[in-house]
Amino acid sequence: MARLTIIKQDNPLIRKTSKIVDDFSPRLHELLDNMYETLLHANGMGLAAIQVGVLYRLAIILTEEYGLIEIINPIIKTVKNQRIDSEGCLSCPGISGRVRRPHLVTLEYQDRHGQKQIKTFHGMDAVCCCHEIDHMDGILFIDKLIK
Ligand SMILES: [Zn+2]
Repeated sequence: MARLTIIKQDNPLIRKTSKIVDDFSPRLHELLDNMYETLLHANGMGLAAIQVGVLYRLAIILTEEYGLIEIINPIIKTVKNQRIDSEGCLSCPGISGRVRRPHLVTLEYQDRHGQKQIKTFHGMDAVCCCHEIDHMDGILFIDKLIK
């Protein structure tokens, strides 16, 4: 495994829209494994591929409920229980702020083998899923701050 460089908010790449993943080969697995090493080293909760400069719709999340989850081509099916929490981002070091997000999210996504999965996430796991899916559309949490 190798540690990857996390791009910051001043890099224009972070605002791009990521593409659908259609290659579930060992190359994808290597990327996911390297992202995991990068996330652990950065002591973060979640990391989207775009944050390491790869414009594909995938992210990894360290959830409380399920442990490490890899969400590929996620689609949000249900959102409930909007709340306001404090958030940060590995691409926006030194910044935190309050954002309104759902505390219940059901996602349909693919795993690293291309198998379709459906899972419901609760609490900060749900917040983290929404934060990472925003990254896939070039959206940062600082765009949604509540003053
Ligand atoms: Zn982030």
